[in-house]
Amino acid sequence: MTRPMPETVPNIVAGQDCPAASGQTLDKLDPASGEVLCRAARSGAPDVDAAVAAARRAQAAWAATPAVQRGMLLHEVVLGMRRRSAELAAVVARETGKSPRDAQGETGGAIACGLFYAGEGQRLFGRTCQSGVPGKYAMTVRQPVGVAGLIIAANTPVANVAWKVFPALVCGNTAVLKAPEDTPGTAWLVGDIAREAGLPDGVLNIVQGYGPEAGQPLVEHPDVGVVSFTGSTAVGRMIAGKCAQRLARVSLELGGKNPLLVCDDADLDNAVRWVLASAFSNAGQRCASASRIIIFDAVYDRFRAMLLEATARLTVGPTDDDYYGPVINARQLENMLAAIARAEAQGARVLTGGQRLTGPAHARGFYLAPTLIEGADPGAEISQKELFGPIACLYRAAGFEQALALANASDYGLTACIHTRNFSRATEFTRRVEAGVAVVNAGTFGSEPHMPFGGVKQSGNGSREPGTEALDVYCELKDIYVNTDQADL
Ligand code: NAD
Repeated sequence: MTRPMPETVPNIVAGQDCPAASGQTLDKLDPASGEVLCRAARSGAPDVDAAVAAARRAQAAWAATPAVQRGMLLHEVVLGMRRRSAELAAVVARETGKSPRDAQGETGGAIACGLFYAGEGQRLFGRTCQSGVPGKYAMTVRQPVGVAGLIIAANTPVANVAWKVFPALVCGNTAVLKAPEDTPGTAWLVGDIAREAGLPDGVLNIVQGYGPEAGQPLVEHPDVGVVSFTGSTAVGRMIAGKCAQRLARVSLELGGKNPLLVCDDADLDNAVRWVLASAFSNAGQRCASASRIIIFDAVYDRFRAMLLEATARLTVGPTDDDYYGPVINARQLENMLAAIARAEAQGARVLTGGQRLTGPAHARGFYLAPTLIEGADPGAEISQKELFGPIACLYRAAGFEQALALANASDYGLTACIHTRNFSRATEFTRRVEAGVAVVNAGTFGSEPHMPFGGVKQSGNGSREPGTEALDVYCELKDIYVNTDQADL
């Protein structure tokens, strides 16, 4: 039976809704209006202990369930998500302020991810290998790690849940998901759909709360065998340190400062369209957003004029007529405004935007005007620090080599894109750019759920999720040798 979301979004532990042991709650604000949207359990270490204990109790039976049957049960969860997709998308839209259409698109992406991993229950391939010994068989099989601790960001909340939960569970792990404090309802609703679909109690537990209070105890918990984290590089680095101390496996999907190159031979209309989408869609709150637009000198002035004209036509708000909505909370908005002010103080010029929108439709929401900046030094803070908002800087490059060098002049290395009609430039760029994802003639975002996503340098620790590569995050490999005795034949 479908139940309505409780007024205070609870944890789900062993299949039961429960408040934080302390009784405390946190306020979740509506980013479009600044009003309190709901409350959520403000969990701490005792709640994490209870969730991990529930996951541990459920783990042996879940691991003993054949992977094919695990996949079929996850398929039921996906069907539940599809049946309740309008409800899911409505919660995503309400919690993030993004338009209903964008929320539906994201929900569709989460469902596609779930379908992919449900099917993976029928594969979960190991390898059969050759042996150097007569009559000896050698193979590898995949086994679960145990309890997975999953921590995610709020930017695409239902997709982020799906990208972690489905691969973790199909591999036979049970999971504790620490929901983002900015999107508690989305995570709860997926958990509710999962139990309604018949996922055994304790297989997926959800803990609400703030990172340092509820996320950190999960990372430090000795019974959590694998931690998978999507969020900022600063928090990821800290999590890597904690996991290193107890030799727990950790997968880190971190930030980006992604370059998009516009060459002198590019289709400039197409490039404008993709710069807008990469820099501003989802209010720039994508790890894969483009925040550094590197333009060849020969077309710089023309491209800048075209981009400014197109940016001036964008509308901002929470409806399907708007290009993007608010940023997720007031703190993020203030960080962005302060970073823009510092960039100006250091000599950069704001070409458009740079301020909070304060008209009647935006007054109380967390809206930032689409912001384009030029003249920033490539080494300046605004060029190097991820802002996770609708802000991009323009840079000039004399030609391909200088543009590529600028693209690589970052501590991050998540995604990158080039706009060119020149095959050699496109090919060289994809080979030499320091990024986990390289794109030709489109945007810096748009990874598909069956493909491995992740970054180099400070954008991650080398793991890749989702795709079949995520199975390596959530599985132990076991070598099995079987020896036959020729005398017994
Ligand atoms: P954040 O690092 O502040 O928070 C992410 C999650 O970590 C939240 O659930 C938060 O509660 C939790 N957290 C915070 N402090 C913690 C702690 N001490 N211990 C354990 N958990 C803690 O990031 P954010 O600002 O919410 O999200 C934006 C960041 O996420 C950006 O850097 C963005 O690039 C990144 N991101 C990366 C990907 C990717 O796949 N590479 C995808 C989406 C977002």
